[in-house]
Amino acid sequence: MSGGESGRLFDDAAGPDLEISSSRPEATEPATRWVEVAVPLPLDGPLTYALAAHHREVEPGVRARVQVGPRRLVGVVLAVLDRRPDLDRIRPVEEILDLEPVLPSELLDLARFVSEYYIAPIGEVLRAFVPGDLPPWGDRRVGLTDAGALAPPRDEEEAGLIAALIEHRRLRVGELRRLVPLDDLAPRLEELRRLGRVVLEQPGGRGTRYVKAVERRDGDLATQLEAAGRSPKGRAVLEYLHAVGRPATLQEIRWAVGCGPTVVRRLESLDLLRSFQQPQRLSLSRHRLGEEGSDPIVLRPDQRAAVEALDAAIVAGEYAPFLLRGVTGSGKTEVYLRAARRALDLGLGTIVLVPEIALVPALAAQLRRRFAGETAILHSNLSASERHQEWERIRRGEARIVLGPRSALMAPLDRLGLIVVDEEHDAAYKQDQVPRYNGRDLALWRARRHGAAAVLASATPSLESRRNAETGKVARLELVERVGNAELPRGVLVDLRREAAARGPGEVFFSGVLLEELRRTIDRDEQAILLRNRRGYAPVLLCRACGEDFRCPDCGVPMTYHLRGHHLSCHYCDLERPAPRRCTTCGEPALEPMGAGTERIEERFRELFPNVAVDTLDADAARRAGGAAAVLERFRSGATQVLVGTQMVSKGHHFPRVSLAAVLFADTYLSFPDFRAVERTYALLVQLAGRAGRGKLPGRVVLQTYHPEHYAIRAALDGNDALFAEHEMRFRRTFHYPPFARVVLVLSQHTRAERAEASLRQLAARIAADPAAEGVRILGPTPAPFERLRGRWRW
Ligand code: ADP
Ligand code: ZN
Repeated sequence: MSGGESGRLFDDAAGPDLEISSSRPEATEPATRWVEVAVPLPLDGPLTYALAAHHREVEPGVRARVQVGPRRLVGVVLAVLDRRPDLDRIRPVEEILDLEPVLPSELLDLARFVSEYYIAPIGEVLRAFVPGDLPPWGDRRVGLTDAGALAPPRDEEEAGLIAALIEHRRLRVGELRRLVPLDDLAPRLEELRRLGRVVLEQPGGRGTRYVKAVERRDGDLATQLEAAGRSPKGRAVLEYLHAVGRPATLQEIRWAVGCGPTVVRRLESLDLLRSFQQPQRLSLSRHRLGEEGSDPIVLRPDQRAAVEALDAAIVAGEYAPFLLRGVTGSGKTEVYLRAARRALDLGLGTIVLVPEIALVPALAAQLRRRFAGETAILHSNLSASERHQEWERIRRGEARIVLGPRSALMAPLDRLGLIVVDEEHDAAYKQDQVPRYNGRDLALWRARRHGAAAVLASATPSLESRRNAETGKVARLELVERVGNAELPRGVLVDLRREAAARGPGEVFFSGVLLEELRRTIDRDEQAILLRNRRGYAPVLLCRACGEDFRCPDCGVPMTYHLRGHHLSCHYCDLERPAPRRCTTCGEPALEPMGAGTERIEERFRELFPNVAVDTLDADAARRAGGAAAVLERFRSGATQVLVGTQMVSKGHHFPRVSLAAVLFADTYLSFPDFRAVERTYALLVQLAGRAGRGKLPGRVVLQTYHPEHYAIRAALDGNDALFAEHEMRFRRTFHYPPFARVVLVLSQHTRAERAEASLRQLAARIAADPAAEGVRILGPTPAPFERLRGRWRW
């Protein structure tokens, strides 16, 4: 890099010495090659730049720093051209950041597909594919490990490298290259790293922590096993190290073999193992939550059939999509983890997607128990350096099992055998900002490209996936029983219209039936979950004197009253303001919170059951210290007996002592202006019901509703999935909704309502006049359900 003004994105204090990739755009040097670079701007396509001659092998998929107008941006090279494109002025590339592509060509293709299909600028799509601040290759630091210092160099070049590293301890790759100018420096360092002889660190990391690791001494396994004597654990350690063919940390040994440091020390004293300090890859301890018994699981026949189908598909190596339906607790996870094992045995990677980060820890623990160091986790709550490390491990093929929310689908695995989309019906798979995409659908795209199996798993599949199973586009796998033959919970319906009359004065949230069930649960020392899908104290603060309801000035919807902190908050734009003591319009002290959110339910519960430990899990709780994990851990350990929460309590968790799950207002979603409102309600109710009775205790479910006859409520209550599917399919078909039609939403926003509307009218007229749009029905333009958000009118 030729100086300080080059606008480094990556703040590493050391000097400018990035030789491998440095570029001095000297005007005299005629370009012989050109590149198309996708920059993260809303442009129609990539921009063209000239490559200086000293840029050696540049391949599509490497990052380039280029100038766009007055700005310097990092983009991704999409194509390398040998002929000068017919353009007046072509600026030079300032810097090529990578030695090898950061994205394999398959992911570049996926990005192109996303760009086209979802009408998103390619540069903005790619921004979602590469960790934003991934440092340039030359900025990494390289250092020698104990093992590296001890091992004899294998040739002269390696000796030179090691000498430089011994002398300087820790160097940036760029500096090392200046000291030891080897053409094949990169592959050499890669190999040494793989052998555990050097460490390559991302800049900006918090420094590497070292942990003890062991390696099997060279020699014949059988002889060593004999020498290990009768200790089965000791033999298991040797066998494990033999199987993985590389050193392992003590922690990994503990996960994989289940033995502690004493066994290892004995093997060391027998001279069967050699130990050394190795940089700890990553602190993943925060992902550990809960322990499970380690009884080997014997699959039920329905599970075995599903595993066999997946096995066959993975072995065949041809694209095979499946819909794995089974009620919660039927052992779906067990099925796809076995399939992941099969893929791994064949050297193929697996991606497991979950809808939310909150579901990562429990599954990560399971994955790590089974796959130890092969597991990588990608999500936005990791620190930047953790994310880069994980991403690099995946790219290098060290970690072949990747877990994370939808963005983990872009993990740079080069050979995939299986992609799992768990809770495939979940709306969280849709990303609702640029680049918009549906992770579930892209999972199928990637699986197809790799000839991999894809598993869409759910207790309540989306109507689209059900339809695909009907038409044979995806193969259906059904789990029909619950593990341990646990019965589906018994449901009790409370008709709030009648209960209202029966309820005592002052009790508006808990019906008599629910109170009775709660008492019984508490008396038996069991646990309960109460779902209220609204956070805060009350959805509306109303002045009884004048009707003022304190709307958000930007969004036009009533702000939610929060007792904690005594403030009003807009749940659409997060605007917050102190809650008034008396009405700001009429001055009367007549303010009344209307309705109830989780906070109020918890408060009321404390009044009713003063001696019972209760806690709340919602987005507000998740933001407090310890986050959702702390709340869940307290509940899992039994420190809290009752958990109030939003839909966050309904997902994934496995709490054996929960015997009661209740929904305070089952109708919250039913009347929502969204054609998926009923599907959402049904999925939520079924998920919640699935929380109860997962252990040995029989579960009870109480649904309080104003619509006791609604098919979604009946179906959820009776565990009658077919009833729901039949009604909902009919509804979708009759009204031309997906999966029987495709719907595209065009949203126009403007600070002036007329403008938002007018632009849509023009667009509608153009579509109507376009012969290519035959068969397209235009609905609207009409105001969006939330007509104004964040100060903008929406049509
Ligand atoms: P799901 O993903 O369908 O909700 P899980 O796969 O998480 O269900 O299974 C629930 C629990 O039952 C887990 O603790 C799992 O280890 C256990 N399990 C799964 N299959 C079996 C089986 N065949 N026998 C005994 N336990 C099982
Ligand atoms: Zn607002």
